Amino acid sequence: MPDVIYLDNNATTAVAPEVREAMLPFLTDLYGNPSSIHTFGGQVMKHVDRAREQVADLLGCHPTEVIFTSCGTESDSTAITSALACWPERRHVITSRVEHPAVLNLCQALATGAHGRPVCRVTQVPVNAAGEFDLPAFGDALDDDTAVVSVMWANNETGVLFPVEDVGALCRDRGIVFHTDAIQAVGKVPMNVADLPIDMLSLSGHKLHAPKGVGALYVQRGTRFSPMMIGGHQEQNRRGGTESVPLIVALGKAAELAKANLEKENTQVRALRDRLERKLLAAAPDARVNGRTDLRLPNTTNISFEYVEGEAILLMLDQYGICASSGSACTTGSLEPSHVLRAMGVPFTAAHGSIRFSLSVYNTQKEMDRVVEVLPPIIRRLREISPFGREGSPAVETIGS
Ligand code: PLP
Repeated sequence: MPDVIYLDNNATTAVAPEVREAMLPFLTDLYGNPSSIHTFGGQVMKHVDRAREQVADLLGCHPTEVIFTSCGTESDSTAITSALACWPERRHVITSRVEHPAVLNLCQALATGAHGRPVCRVTQVPVNAAGEFDLPAFGDALDDDTAVVSVMWANNETGVLFPVEDVGALCRDRGIVFHTDAIQAVGKVPMNVADLPIDMLSLSGHKLHAPKGVGALYVQRGTRFSPMMIGGHQEQNRRGGTESVPLIVALGKAAELAKANLEKENTQVRALRDRLERKLLAAAPDARVNGRTDLRLPNTTNISFEYVEGEAILLMLDQYGICASSGSACTTGSLEPSHVLRAMGVPFTAAHGSIRFSLSVYNTQKEMDRVVEVLPPIIRRLREISPFGREGSPAVETIGS
């Protein structure tokens, strides 16, 4: 698909050519099992070790603190279930209302007993209209029963950054495990986890130009840990299962590239995102950015085009080869606005017309200019036929609180 303008990098990213190159030998000649005694296997283990160093270098931690997993969801699940297993006398989990389903649905399943008996109660900390985490409400929610706090570093829909250092500090004061889902933040925000009060952190390869199917969990030395995948002795007994060497090598290379590109993310990508946002807001009346615009990922903008359906915008953009995503998901036949926008209290007519553009280092100014050329006429056309049209629209309803 050579003519695609890909602006959906928070959903997944293209595999970097260097990453593809790095993993290929492990799909052909270097197929040994890293746990084998023979030299052929041992040689492969050296590359797994190297990948662990590359990931550790990106995060700012020691390689032994990195566990390879199959995806971000597995990392999130491992962190939260591990803390509950290690602190059996504590049965309270705190998270936020705007977490990814990898955390939200897991917590809900644990609280409702979807797999047996309920194992904990869950508090979801609210966000304000700008998508900011409510730190005082969080402080009030902490209690002696709290086993683990899981709060994301950056929101995948709005890009808004959360005060993970403050959240972690409050947890440390009370001896509570703090996990952060940093799946959208890793590679876009500088981090040095050794200096932060973070016990566990999740990342996912396919958000940073590695293939799908690999992730990692950082577990700070000294943190009590209980594996989710029980089996062989891999990953220092912390995750059973023969290592997916090609994917692990790919993640290592992607981490190395992400570190090298961090500056570019925060200058070049940020400038492209800002230009796109500025021009779209100027060209389309009744457009607004969802979420705080300063403390935000450099690659993400979530814009509501009021009185039109996001899905319709996406379909029309698709005809021009432009890939983005919307803040509503067509589930059960009704267009339900995203839980993130609902939690922010974004009005109904705006939540339905929200589009997330998420960029990468592979995007160009020419691509942004093309979107700015194509999108405003689409919005005008859709507004003319919209049942939510400004003329005679139903009363604006606010959802969420
Ligand atoms: N958490 C966040 C914030 C995400 O954005 C995603 C993916 O979209 C996930 C978790 C799940 O990651 P994976 O697809 O690797 O399981």
